[in-house]
Amino acid sequence: MGWLKKIDHEINDNKTLEDRFFSVVVIVGLAIVAVSEIVTMIENIGLIANLGTAMGGILLLIVVYEAYVRKRPDRARILICYAFNCIVIPIAFFSCGGFDSGMPLYMLAGIFTIIPVLKEMHRFICLLVSFTVDIICISIAYFLRQNPYGFIAGKLGLMPELNLKDRYIDIVSSLLIISVYIIVTTALIMDAYQKERTKREELLEKLDDLSKRDELTGLYNRRELFHFLEETPLTDGCHYLCMIDIDHFKNVNDTYGHVFGDLVLRTLGRICNEKIRVGESELAARYGGEEFLIVVKAEQKEQAIERINRVREEFEKNVWESQPELVITFSAGMVDCAAFQTYTEAISQADKLLYKAKENGRNCLEV
Ligand code: GH3
Ligand code: MG
Ligand code: MG
Repeated sequence: MGWLKKIDHEINDNKTLEDRFFSVVVIVGLAIVAVSEIVTMIENIGLIANLGTAMGGILLLIVVYEAYVRKRPDRARILICYAFNCIVIPIAFFSCGGFDSGMPLYMLAGIFTIIPVLKEMHRFICLLVSFTVDIICISIAYFLRQNPYGFIAGKLGLMPELNLKDRYIDIVSSLLIISVYIIVTTALIMDAYQKERTKREELLEKLDDLSKRDELTGLYNRRELFHFLEETPLTDGCHYLCMIDIDHFKNVNDTYGHVFGDLVLRTLGRICNEKIRVGESELAARYGGEEFLIVVKAEQKEQAIERINRVREEFEKNVWESQPELVITFSAGMVDCAAFQTYTEAISQADKLLYKAKENGRNCLEV
């Protein structure tokens, strides 16, 4: 169903709301012209009425040609609005029974179409012109029905007086056609608007997440780390702050290259992400180049120590695919946040303990 896909593309893909609405109007408009033509034939109103409706179809095809073949959608939009409101609807109005029939409903649909298809000044001018044309048509119809002009209308085949049954059929069918038109177009526009909103919300969420994360490790970045430290009450006696630094990382870079060094950082990032319950008042962030900061929650100090040691052991045991013999470790310093007034003091003390761990031979945790 290639053409169905094409229609779906026209209505949904990368288009402004106006472009989408225009496509909807064209598609639904073509369907309405076809239905109207059939209804007009059934009602047997007259040749002029059939020609008027057919002209609507031809105009729509010209619009399609302008918009999609010659790729001049702006022209096509203006054309569709003026052609319908100022040519097709007036002709149909006079040939299909005037205000005795359902034609005023078509006038309403024509006006409805202008608002989302045209923009700014074009919209305003087209609305004004179309209203004027509609009112003029209704006024002419009024005078044509009065003597002594009545015979002119009869001679020209304009404003045929419909009998009660035809009038009934015409009004009911027009009401149905125009209702379907308004319902379908409005529903499609609402749907397009909703999709656009969802897309934007998802994008914002993604951007928000990206702005919080470190590109290499996927852990939270410094900005998010400090935001977390400011927002979380750390002095409740169950938060422990731990500073981690990879051992001899400069050597790793120098010996195996920076690409391998990056892999090491990513691996530690992944292990931290797995072991730390981010979102439950815990956090793992990349503090600097090869320094990581972890905040864990634990009832007792021993539990916090155990959790950090699990991260340390898993990292130490990691088998590096390109260097199976290589063992990389980190050193860490941890403090109980309750012992400090500010998180800056806590970080500073954890940093001191980290250097003590380095002095004590590395691959260990100082508390
Ligand atoms: P120590 O055991 O005392 O911590 O020694 P070290 O070599 O790890 O310490 P140092 O601070 O001298 O080395 C840190 C190195 O981390 C230096 C820098 O090139 C490297 N580094 C920082 N950021 C990145 C990064 O994003 N990717 C890679 N591959 N290396 C990085
Ligand atoms: Mg360092
Ligand atoms: Mg280091």
